[in-house]
Amino acid sequence: MVKFLKKVKSLRPKGSPKYLLHRHLAQPDKGRSYATVHASSLTHPSGLCPRMYALADVTHTKAPDSWLSTSLKMTFQIGRDQERNIVLWFAEMGRAVCHWRCATILYTTKGGYGTLCADVKKWGLPEDFSPFKEYDITRDDAETDDLALRARTVKEFRAGLVGMPEGICSTAFSQRAQECPLKGVCFGGHHPPKHHWKGTT
Ligand code: SF4
Repeated sequence: MVKFLKKVKSLRPKGSPKYLLHRHLAQPDKGRSYATVHASSLTHPSGLCPRMYALADVTHTKAPDSWLSTSLKMTFQIGRDQERNIVLWFAEMGRAVCHWRCATILYTTKGGYGTLCADVKKWGLPEDFSPFKEYDITRDDAETDDLALRARTVKEFRAGLVGMPEGICSTAFSQRAQECPLKGVCFGGHHPPKHHWKGTT
């Protein structure tokens, strides 16, 4: 092992900007508090479990730290920079006012240059390419009913309106349970489910 570590150390390129950036950017990422149910957790492909939040509350469990790779850090930073720039550009236009009833979603291309776009010509602008795309979204509550129910269950548990929610894993060996930091508590038998929220929309 010592030999291996010495070899790895000897291969590190001291003056390489790429190496220095990787060493600087990749780092532990503090776990996000369970106090807030984030929209990104709600829409995560593995599905939000209200029981996990309730168990974290009663056992005072903190979210574990994770590891943020250089590529993820770069992706998040580019996203934040783009968001800030777009807000500033709308502020320059005197239009940095918005509300969540807006149904138009604006996408920006990561590279910035964008693609050939017929719209900008149609609008009489002296351009051929656009880094932006707009999508009109029609509100459909049926699409979000299940997500809203999960978030509401956490809220109602915290308000003392319902008891310990049931979970979403059928067994402790399911794929979803393997990803859950509260798996041990969940299947430990000390917090039986008292609120059956599924199908109560
Ligand atoms: S193990 Fe599954 S059911 Fe239990 S809290 Fe975690 S996600 Fe929910």
